[in-house]
Amino acid sequence: VTAPARFSGPVTGVVEATPSGDYLQQLFAAGVLIPLGVDGLYARSGGFEAVVDALDRLITRIGRPAWVGADGRSEPEPEVMRLPPAMSRSIFERTGYMSAFPQLAGTVHCFCGDERAHRELLELLESKSDWAAGQTTSELVLIPAACYPIYPIMAERGTLPPGGRVVDIGATCFRHEPSREPTRMQMFRMREYVRMGEVAEVDAFRAGWLERGRSMVTSLRLPFVVEAASDPFFGRTGRLMAAGQIEQALKLELQIPVNSSDAPTACLSFNYHQDKFGATWGLRTSNGAVAHTCCVGFGMERLTLALFRHHGFDTATWPAGVRDILWPEQASP
Ligand SMILES: [Zn+2]
Repeated sequence: VTAPARFSGPVTGVVEATPSGDYLQQLFAAGVLIPLGVDGLYARSGGFEAVVDALDRLITRIGRPAWVGADGRSEPEPEVMRLPPAMSRSIFERTGYMSAFPQLAGTVHCFCGDERAHRELLELLESKSDWAAGQTTSELVLIPAACYPIYPIMAERGTLPPGGRVVDIGATCFRHEPSREPTRMQMFRMREYVRMGEVAEVDAFRAGWLERGRSMVTSLRLPFVVEAASDPFFGRTGRLMAAGQIEQALKLELQIPVNSSDAPTACLSFNYHQDKFGATWGLRTSNGAVAHTCCVGFGMERLTLALFRHHGFDTATWPAGVRDILWPEQASP
């Protein structure tokens, strides 16, 4: 089996490099994903979660050692934070997400009425009418990208220390885009490393992680391509923003063919925000300049689905080299 020329990385899996067939149906049939009645929302098997856990530990191992960036200085030790699936609505509003991606946001609404309102609610439910109109916005919004809640936390601490900061984040994210592509879930887990500091530090971090990401995916024997990409900005203005993003290569994606080779799936992304979040939250470097930030994100479900697609549903039969990377504690000496 040979990979299409477009993709790099060795392809030795049991599944062809050009995926075919309805992958979602295959995942259901194998019991890897279990339908929950909504496209993009699935329960996951023990085997699936074992791979997610192994990837999570692998990413931690890759991100742990203090390494020397292109500027010759070593990176700060990552600070670990794990987030609940929701964030504060007022912080969400300040991120500008509703102007850029209103179609993807998920806000939490609740019943806040009295007993009379409850009786009306019951009547609406009984008559199968629209009962949701009476729901009120709560202070919670589902997290659309793992790093969003981090910037105000860091700004609250004051000026960045010399050398800046690195944060290791994990969160369950939500995007309202129901799809039959198993890689496009509505709720999914993201690991991220976020770098905050001077331009040179942020640049070196992104370049370094691009190399680490390539070598990680190569070691997992998955074919991939790295492309400049854009976020799914809404509307006509959004299309201009997306074009600018690609032109400046602010977003790079490591894409792996999972559903199809024609439209490979972004499994890792490397995002340079320039000083957008620094300016929004008043985050400054030790020199007093507005901080620049970047993040590297790992789509945990997408990487897992890529591994199942290329190496088969039974992890026991995966290539020994791949198993040794994911489960080094079980590796033969
Ligand atoms: Zn991010």
